[in-house]
Amino acid sequence: MPRAIKSVKGTRDFLPPETRLWAAVEETARRVFGTYGYEEIRTPVLEETDLFVRSVGESTDIVGKEMYTFLDKKGRSLTLRPESTASVVRAFVQHGLANQPLPAKLFYIGPQFRYERPQKGRYRQFHQIGAELIGDPGPETDAELLLMLLRFLGELGFRDLLVQLNTVGDDQSRAAYREGLRSFLEPHRDELGEDSRRRLDSNPLRILDTKNPEERELLREAPELAEFLSQESREHFEGLRRALDRFGVAYEIEPRLVRGLDYYTRTVFEIISEGLGAQDAIVGGGRYDGLVAELGGPELPGIGFAIGEDRLIEVLPEQFSRAVAGSEPIVVVPVGEVAAVEALELAERLRGAGLAVIAELSGRSVKAALKKADRSGARLAILIGDDELGKGLVTLRDLKAADQFTVPRADLVARVEEML
Ligand code: AMP
Repeated sequence: MPRAIKSVKGTRDFLPPETRLWAAVEETARRVFGTYGYEEIRTPVLEETDLFVRSVGESTDIVGKEMYTFLDKKGRSLTLRPESTASVVRAFVQHGLANQPLPAKLFYIGPQFRYERPQKGRYRQFHQIGAELIGDPGPETDAELLLMLLRFLGELGFRDLLVQLNTVGDDQSRAAYREGLRSFLEPHRDELGEDSRRRLDSNPLRILDTKNPEERELLREAPELAEFLSQESREHFEGLRRALDRFGVAYEIEPRLVRGLDYYTRTVFEIISEGLGAQDAIVGGGRYDGLVAELGGPELPGIGFAIGEDRLIEVLPEQFSRAVAGSEPIVVVPVGEVAAVEALELAERLRGAGLAVIAELSGRSVKAALKKADRSGARLAILIGDDELGKGLVTLRDLKAADQFTVPRADLVARVEEML
């Protein structure tokens, strides 16, 4: 026997009925984002490796260890995208979108790839729903983006989500902080784990993400980024807080939130869901004011977020899941010697009226067909036998009430619509 092939580690198949949830979540995103003027962008999953090296940053975990990078047949280094902001900005620059009215408001939905250790809530192929706004410096823009995100999550039924907010300042503030943190940690180098020692040289801000309890203890005494902020960065952050307060958005300032990607400036945020344990962030985002220029475009500020769709669906409120329960199909069953094609003809007529119909074409007995229909949640069966065929009638059977009656074929669509 040939070996059965399984999906690759860290990747998953999504089967019905779960796919219904994915589709409903994505439809909600399209609708809500549309009310804020966002339009969809679709970029390739494959990009030149250099795109992520230059934007996400060489010293990050993503670029350092997690990318699916390979040489193609011509020896070019390509990477399966580990995130989409870089791709959206690349497309923005490549297609000269800066010449169209700004800000550009774009959203995307699609798979991302990171070679991480798979566990609950962490996959090698995962999916993000994200939005990017390019061309407005904020801070009201930042507030509007967060309001859109929270409106979307609210429509999915999420309440009490925790928004964690911070500012990482502009380039100068960050550079000053990097040095401040390095001078604080240098005398403690020997107390740090291997990863953090390496980061102390390459990217000390990343040490703030550590999960190691001893390192966290040490960091309690560390200087905070707030002490290094320029006046302008401080005012920007205050402007954002004022706007959020005005709309009653509940948030927590998290001074240690710096996010792992190099391109962030000023506003950064995450949204946490308690149902997820260690992998508890469902959204990450922030401002990236230098990225467009870094990728060869004009000096334009940007801000965006990425929602982890896999995690979002794992903690989706029940009321939303219940509301997208399947439709109740109508089943058409041929009786006795009647040809299956007669059942197919009726089914086609009903589908022409926009109804969901399953035609029983496999030659099962009527009893078996009705049992299957009942199990699949059908409400209504239409039976067509020799008798009815001759008289131009069909039998309509209400599967829940278990009663049935005949109607003229010509009235079928109208009668079915009445009953649903
Ligand atoms: P990031 O692009 O790292 O800022 O991540 C944004 C969001 O994507 C996170 O908050 C997660 O919800 C989700 N995410 C990131 N990496 C993974 C992964 N390996 N598996 C599942 N979800 C992920």
